[in-house]
Amino acid sequence: MEASGERGGITTVECPVCQSDLTVSLPRESEILTLTTNPEDVPDYSENGAARPRNIQMPCKDGHPVTVFFDW
Ligand SMILES: [Zn+2]
Repeated sequence: MEASGERGGITTVECPVCQSDLTVSLPRESEILTLTTNPEDVPDYSENGAARPRNIQMPCKDGHPVTVFFDW
């Protein structure tokens, strides 16, 4: 079965602090779990069933350190 969804890849998210758009490059078929500017704010992976939890940190254009937690 061919994946036709647009999950993963180049994804635009919003900075939780200033709502500015932020482009992150995620692995294909990954699913964003949460966005935070506090890296210690790790989601409960056991609750949301993440198989391979990862995270990537990117500064938004205003310099907020946005951490994207995702499952891949
Ligand atoms: Zn920001």
